[in-house]
Amino acid sequence: MSTLKAVRGTRDLLPPETALWNRVEATARAAFARYGFGEIRTPLFEDTQLFVRGVGEETDVVSKEMYTWEDRARAASEKAQSLTLRPENTAGVVRAYIEHKLGDTGMLQKLFYIGPQFRRERPQRGRYRQFWQIGAEVLGPQSSGAESALRDAEVLEMLATLLDELGIPRASEANGNTGWKLALNSVGSSTDRPRYIAALKAALAPIKGTLCDDCQRRADTNPLRVLDCKVPEDQATINDLPKIADFLDEASTAHFAEVKAALDACGVPYTIEPRLVRGLDYYTRTTFEFTAASGLGTQNALLGGGRYDGLSEMLGGPKAPGIGFAIGEDRLILTLQALAEAGSLPVEAAKLDTYIAPMGAGQNAAALALAKELRAAGLSVEVGDGGFRLKKSFEIADKLARRIVILGEDEVASGVMTVKTFASGEQVKCERAALEALLRG
Ligand code: AMP
Repeated sequence: MSTLKAVRGTRDLLPPETALWNRVEATARAAFARYGFGEIRTPLFEDTQLFVRGVGEETDVVSKEMYTWEDRARAASEKAQSLTLRPENTAGVVRAYIEHKLGDTGMLQKLFYIGPQFRRERPQRGRYRQFWQIGAEVLGPQSSGAESALRDAEVLEMLATLLDELGIPRASEANGNTGWKLALNSVGSSTDRPRYIAALKAALAPIKGTLCDDCQRRADTNPLRVLDCKVPEDQATINDLPKIADFLDEASTAHFAEVKAALDACGVPYTIEPRLVRGLDYYTRTTFEFTAASGLGTQNALLGGGRYDGLSEMLGGPKAPGIGFAIGEDRLILTLQALAEAGSLPVEAAKLDTYIAPMGAGQNAAALALAKELRAAGLSVEVGDGGFRLKKSFEIADKLARRIVILGEDEVASGVMTVKTFASGEQVKCERAALEALLRG
């Protein structure tokens, strides 16, 4: 019989790597708490229409990458329904905001989430079909200040701080620009964008024949997507196309200027990237992407986000401007692993405090009772087996723990145990009363 494997594009995360995932999530949760965010957990699947209307029918995510199925009715009272595994979480958060009337509080909503998303992409390093995002959204009625450029800058400053806290360096000459970089743009309001798209279409019409097949199609269906093209031969032509910055109205220009001024005041470095329009249709005004060259190869976008002032209305809700981002957690982990391998990030010792080796099956119960007491005192402990030879116990203990405690019949009777510290090779006799202090040292 053939053995079953994890489905292509999905993977198991195992210890010790999961310790790194937990550290990243704990660091993110701590940052979110300091910036006043609360956690939201939305369902893993939603009505397909949420993504069609929210993310946009023409986007790659919706047109090619969604896991969608027709969910059969189980009872006469139910209707069959098209459901989709969430490819991103912003649409779900805004749906929940509308459904629970969070705007009625009049307060700014600051929500974060950590969870898996699903896209049927071509799997490669840093690109999976089930992947994890750590994201946050700031939204609310206009009176809550949700539209303010201050919010854009606060979110970007929080991200810079989070990456700093995780130990990812900022890009500099010294690290060969392998650290993180923030690319920033404004894609304008819902009135600026159509003017820009019309100009882009007009500029593309006479030259599109010189571009790649994908761009020729996009030039007609979704010209903004031409700016995402990665084909080397197309780049010079695309760089010469009209720039969105020249089509922003006064309000959008002023909003963007305020974002930049606040970032300057907070010491967050950025570069303006006129081609950054991002893959989802709901973005307005500020868009951004953080990249890191370390460990990611071609999939170097660590996180992305932007403002979505019209999304709530697109989903049938009240006006609720907002801004948010999603960090690709898988990519963040790859970056941290690459930094650790290069020696630029300290690798935490994941060893247990001690390993208890009972000598003979008769000591198993006493070993377990001792482990229970030490664990209750906050020490991390693994228990061996009385059936193991002493040599085997030492080998296992050396792999797992910083110390070994030998527990034979004499030790149980006298209460004096033999403890060896692997790093120093030192071996001592220790009374039970002094054991905890020794193991903590
Ligand atoms: P998006 O929701 O497309 O704006 O993506 C936000 C971030 O999620 C990206 O910058 C990536 O880091 C990450 N991401 C998106 N798609 C994938 C994928 N298929 N596999 C792993 N990470 C992804």
